[in-house]
Amino acid sequence: MSELGLDQLPVRADLRGMTPYGAPQLEVPVALNTNENPIPPSAELSAAIGAAVAETARGLNRYPDRDATRLRADLARYLGHGLSQENVWAANGSNEILQQLLHVFGGPGRTALGFEPSYSMHPVLARVTGTAWMGLDRGQDFRIDPEEARAAVARHQPTLVLLTSPNNPTGTALELETVEAVAETCPGVVVVDEAYAEFRREGTPSAVSLLERYPRLIVTRTMSKAFALAGARIGYLAAHPAAVEALQLVRLPYHLSATSQVVAKTALDHATELLASVDELRAERDACVTWLRNQGYTVADSDANFVMFGTFSDRSAVWNGLLERGVLVREVGPPGWLRVTVGTATEMARFRAALLEVTHQA
Ligand code: PMP
Repeated sequence: MSELGLDQLPVRADLRGMTPYGAPQLEVPVALNTNENPIPPSAELSAAIGAAVAETARGLNRYPDRDATRLRADLARYLGHGLSQENVWAANGSNEILQQLLHVFGGPGRTALGFEPSYSMHPVLARVTGTAWMGLDRGQDFRIDPEEARAAVARHQPTLVLLTSPNNPTGTALELETVEAVAETCPGVVVVDEAYAEFRREGTPSAVSLLERYPRLIVTRTMSKAFALAGARIGYLAAHPAAVEALQLVRLPYHLSATSQVVAKTALDHATELLASVDELRAERDACVTWLRNQGYTVADSDANFVMFGTFSDRSAVWNGLLERGVLVREVGPPGWLRVTVGTATEMARFRAALLEVTHQA
């Protein structure tokens, strides 16, 4: 094929120079870099998924249910709080949900506001949808002070605010007071990205409980983490039915395949089994935080399935040292910090041993 560079294609001027988002996908014995659930679906569940997909395959000559009605009803039941199918929307991962939200509520001349460090896809999605991004700093211990958030939102008048709770990469859960302060002040919509909601510690509430009181509040969730279904690409949101209706304006027709819908539905039927792994991972997470603190590291409190720790004068060297020992973590967050996803007990033991070796304490 003849030579062709990106600069010879009519790439949009505002996208020139960007690099695609994504963590390195390396084949390693201990992958603790993308906040996946380390426990695969059981043989029973994978057989149930296989049978459901085989059944669906017989109807693949037809387009799927465009509105994913049955799946949305099941997701609403899972979330509780009196929600029903009209309150829920589903798509290919919460990334697609977030993209749809920015498509419909963002765009040229509009501003989306977030508190950083946070999920780095948020500004990327703002950018690709032509939305201006306003990234403000989180405060002490990566928290967001309710009154400071209120003042910032009042000052900048964003069309969309993105709050992440528990936050990636810090693990910090938001106090509901902060969500309320923002929801009371924001002239547009407030999106709480709760991808890691199921890993919250006891007593940390979800913003789903606020939906009734704030009609322009939207909570996004995913089956990629607690449900151990990252490969299936299922994300969803809960919101006022009007917001769900608005999303129809930008969604592609038949965006969620019949197989995706049935895989998600089958997994939800096995929610109890799948969510059992969450308790195990929360215990591993707490043990990891304690161990790292005992080693003298600074560790952010975590309500998620990952832990951010540091600080290292040369975090890249530590990241590389771990990789050389077969342990892949993520070089993300403020300078000097690393993020490790909580794996199985065996994987965490390998992480600890590798970290001791790399930092010459073995
Ligand atoms: N939100 C946050 C905060 C995340 O960390 C991630 C994945 N890393 C996502 C959304 C997207 O997840 P998915 O598209 O798999 O649902």
